[in-house]
Amino acid sequence: QKCLSMIKKTKFLNAYITVTEEEALKQAEESEKRYAKGQPLGDLDGIPVAIKDNFSTSAIETTCGSNMLKGYVPPYNATVVQKLFDQGALLMGKTNLDEFAMGSGSTDGVFGPVKNPWSYSKQYREKRKQKPHGENEDSDWLITGGSSGGSAAAVSAFTCFAALGSDTGGSTRNPAAQCGLVGVKPSYGLVSRHGLIPLVNSMDVPGILTRCVDDAAVVLGVLAGHDPKDSTTIQDPVKPFLLPSLTDVSKLCIGIPKEYLVPELSSEVQSLWTKAADLFESRGAKVIEVSLPHTSYSIVCYHVLCTSEVASNMARFDGLEYGHRCDIDVSTEAMYAATRREGFNDVVRGRILSGNFFLLKENYETYFIKAQKVRRLIANDFVNVFNSGVDVLLTPTTLSEAVPYLEFIKEDNRTRSAQDDIFTQAVNMAGLPAISVPMALSNQGLPIGLQFIGRAFCDQQLLTVAKWFE
Ligand code: GLN
Repeated sequence: QKCLSMIKKTKFLNAYITVTEEEALKQAEESEKRYAKGQPLGDLDGIPVAIKDNFSTSAIETTCGSNMLKGYVPPYNATVVQKLFDQGALLMGKTNLDEFAMGSGSTDGVFGPVKNPWSYSKQYREKRKQKPHGENEDSDWLITGGSSGGSAAAVSAFTCFAALGSDTGGSTRNPAAQCGLVGVKPSYGLVSRHGLIPLVNSMDVPGILTRCVDDAAVVLGVLAGHDPKDSTTIQDPVKPFLLPSLTDVSKLCIGIPKEYLVPELSSEVQSLWTKAADLFESRGAKVIEVSLPHTSYSIVCYHVLCTSEVASNMARFDGLEYGHRCDIDVSTEAMYAATRREGFNDVVRGRILSGNFFLLKENYETYFIKAQKVRRLIANDFVNVFNSGVDVLLTPTTLSEAVPYLEFIKEDNRTRSAQDDIFTQAVNMAGLPAISVPMALSNQGLPIGLQFIGRAFCDQQLLTVAKWFE
């Protein structure tokens, strides 16, 4: 009831596309009965959760924030959604996002931008010399980061305790950092993608947004494991993710990648990054500078691979099988073209166009195959660092704290999003686990997060270190 009332109170944040109030209340009643009998379903029985609107939910509209899928009601649940339900989680609703999860701001979906709850904190408003929320024109608000900004706003505004995001190049960690939350990107293959509407199949993972590391570990424990419906999931049985309380970090080796000190990094984030490294060092951990020499290629490489996979993935939206279909009936080709013109926004259309360019017969070797090779070099950089004895890498998550919406849309949005992902994208290309943890508030009173990156499938160790740090 409290979460539902928070959803109503914070409707202006635009965090939810669909609120499943009736269903949530019904599930809550069932849950209460189970508790009364002393038989809760599982770890999440009665816990309100929200789900990004690019996960298929049976009988609940799933839009991907796009005109193309408005009105589309999937006939099945994504595996991760089903796993949450099997543990008794209560679904509060489906959350807002950039169209098809393409973006870093949650400003680009057809349902409008998501507002960062921190825009309305007393401290921030005083610093900006704004009147308390509700008393003046509301134009000076901050973006959440993205593309899972709706999920981040939903958790941050206390409308639920955990939310699913997706993370292809940083979309869970980025909004987590900018909304003061924990954001987990599991190892590729640890959590099923079945029913997550794909952006880049070779990089997508379901992500988790919570208020603390322990909560994230519980959810990850529920989600992790083999799924016969996703052949890229690991076969090995997954141990439960119960995090020990680490008291001694003196055996840890923390790597600080020198290439991540980029000129665009804000001085505040940089000084918190140093402070965090010093903290580990002062408690006896070994903190060393490491090199990930191919970092500077990562954004360009990501974009060639991302758009190429997008060009292929988006072919399924032809007006026949899912969602939107235009009224034109002169020819099938004309119907496809008009449907796609009406259905997709500029960002999606731009990526389809670039991807098809890279995949042209005459360009395939020069761009696509080359990018695959660069991707391997980027992944090997991490392998080399971990083989040299480093346990986890410590990096910033984002270049700065959340920025005002009006500033964000001033610049070329796509160029800006591309730069924003500098610390997160390489991790997806390498398939590694990573977590963003809130570190401190900036001078403006806004949250800043730092990222830990772990060895492949050492998610538990990664979360344990993050918990110590938290
Ligand atoms: N910002 C990146 C992109 O637009 C990553 C998005 C994501 O992780 N879903 O591709």
